[in-house]
Amino acid sequence: MPAQIIDGKAIAADVRNQVRLDIEQRISAGQRAPGLAVILVGANPASQVYVRKKREACDEAGLISKSFDLDENTDQQTLLDLIEDLNDDATIDGILVQLPLPDHIDSTLVLEAIHPDKDVDGFHPYNIGRLAQRMPVLRPCTPHGIIHMLETIGEKFKGRHAVVVGASNIVGRPMNLELLLAGATVTITHRFTKDLATHVADADILVVAVGKPGIVKGEWVKPGATVIDVGINRLPDGKLTGDVDYATAAERAAWITPVPGGVGPMTVAMLLRNTLQAAEKHGGL
Ligand code: NAD
Repeated sequence: MPAQIIDGKAIAADVRNQVRLDIEQRISAGQRAPGLAVILVGANPASQVYVRKKREACDEAGLISKSFDLDENTDQQTLLDLIEDLNDDATIDGILVQLPLPDHIDSTLVLEAIHPDKDVDGFHPYNIGRLAQRMPVLRPCTPHGIIHMLETIGEKFKGRHAVVVGASNIVGRPMNLELLLAGATVTITHRFTKDLATHVADADILVVAVGKPGIVKGEWVKPGATVIDVGINRLPDGKLTGDVDYATAAERAAWITPVPGGVGPMTVAMLLRNTLQAAEKHGGL
């Protein structure tokens, strides 16, 4: 039987709608709308699209998004000064710096300059450390969104083997921590892993975040597995595709995410939820 499709668009719409209702309630209780600062440095076309989507989603949910579009040649200190101002701004609950940053800027330094209470991307070592120690506060949006998707389809995690392909700071590593927190037995693989096919074939839950179309072959997938494809790759004809060989994987899996319309919308929805959470916890104005 072909896999059931996990409709990330619909699950994300529910999350965004709940955020909107919670914000309406905040406002009727006399509190202000949560504020998100979105900083974009340079004109990377993919980043421009992501930032636009995030800003539109904020407007729709009733958050106030403040845009800071900086020139490609902006120096590091100017960016750090802006972040410091936003850290001190009581109307701003979340600060998002769109990655990648231009090469002359040290991304680690910039991400660590964001106050952990306003770190709505969840990338600051404080927030990653809290997640690693089973006391999460602001959680990285993509992995947290994937956990929410899996819960929505009734995944129980305990006693299940989850395999993560890719070990980046923004997806693979925090995904590993999230799955462990949820109670799964986790294997994480990366560019130095030998025999990826054997690891994939043993996955009840497979999460792939590499950025190479077709790196996971459909015939590797364990029958009945749940397949989450995080990859977003643009093909020469302009179409988007994931990292998993979708057609053959969908013949074997029980559940699968499409690209587009799977993980992507969840990332944006969890960003809104994190910003609301930050406002509820710290932004009493
Ligand atoms: P990255 O380049 O930072 O990391 C890629 C990871 O893949 C690395 O850990 C590397 O070791 C691993 N890898 C490379 N070759 C491998 C191989 N042969 N076998 C196993 N692992 C291998 O990328 P990233 O930022 O984690 O993004 C990965 C993909 O996910 C990209 O396509 C990106 O566009 C997409 N992405 C999507 C969302 C979303 O919201 N849907 C969010 C973030 C990233």
